[in-house]
Amino acid sequence: MGRIIAIANQKGGVGKTTTSVNLSACLAYLGKKVLLIDTDPQGNTTSGLGVNKGELHGCIYDVLIDDEKVENVIQQTNVENLAIIPATISLAGAEIELVSTISREVRLKHALQDVKEDYDYIIIDCPPSLGLLTINALTASDALIIPVQCEYYALEGLSQLLSTVRLVQKHLNQQLYIDGVLLTMLDARTNLGLQVIDEVKKYFQEKVYKTIIPRNVRLSEAPSHGQPIITYDAKSRGAEVYLEMAREVIKNG
Ligand code: ADP
Ligand code: MG
Repeated sequence: MGRIIAIANQKGGVGKTTTSVNLSACLAYLGKKVLLIDTDPQGNTTSGLGVNKGELHGCIYDVLIDDEKVENVIQQTNVENLAIIPATISLAGAEIELVSTISREVRLKHALQDVKEDYDYIIIDCPPSLGLLTINALTASDALIIPVQCEYYALEGLSQLLSTVRLVQKHLNQQLYIDGVLLTMLDARTNLGLQVIDEVKKYFQEKVYKTIIPRNVRLSEAPSHGQPIITYDAKSRGAEVYLEMAREVIKNG
């Protein structure tokens, strides 16, 4: 049965998109059938996988606002086993348009029912906000991954995210659980990084993934080549750690 996992944190630049793209590609590399959904109007996940936004015949906006069937907007990527529902800038208006839409919080959940069984994993990259796009992702998901950057104020804003998660659990999606907190962009040369790891582990305890993502320049280069790290540079440290993380996610069920 397909597992739907949202990757969320309303802070920007913490590694949501990098994790969405590379976790998805690594799961696919390990033989899982994966659908990646871009719900950020910036569309960085979409372009990071080399999808040409000019040639799209539809995006997640059409599903959320115009009741388009998901089957019609799924695109294959250059990575075997990995499909994507892209996002374009039209999605920027969706946050406001959704407000006056019937069953506005459950539109993604309903849309995914048709394809859930076709995939082992459906990964949803969220925008940096706690608006209706993120609520739709959390409502549609079985589990949540929270990337946290190893920097000052790492925990700042997380209480807001956690109270949103509790509200979603209470009113919209009882099953939702936190699969794990992923520490990202660790600079092992500084004490600060290690302090942040301690702090986050104290707060989230066994919910923190054993895999910690270091800063790795290959990870930041890969998107401009339209590739995940596993095809861009399979031998890099970035590829190693995201594969390790994918194995942890699989082990969690
Ligand atoms: P978000 O989706 O949360 O806004 P991104 O995944 O887009 O965050 O990451 C923000 C920036 O940091 C991007 O330029 C990305 O390439 C870079 N980045 C993310 N993770 C790493 C890493 N482990 N090492 C180096 N650069 C990274
Ligand atoms: Mg992003």
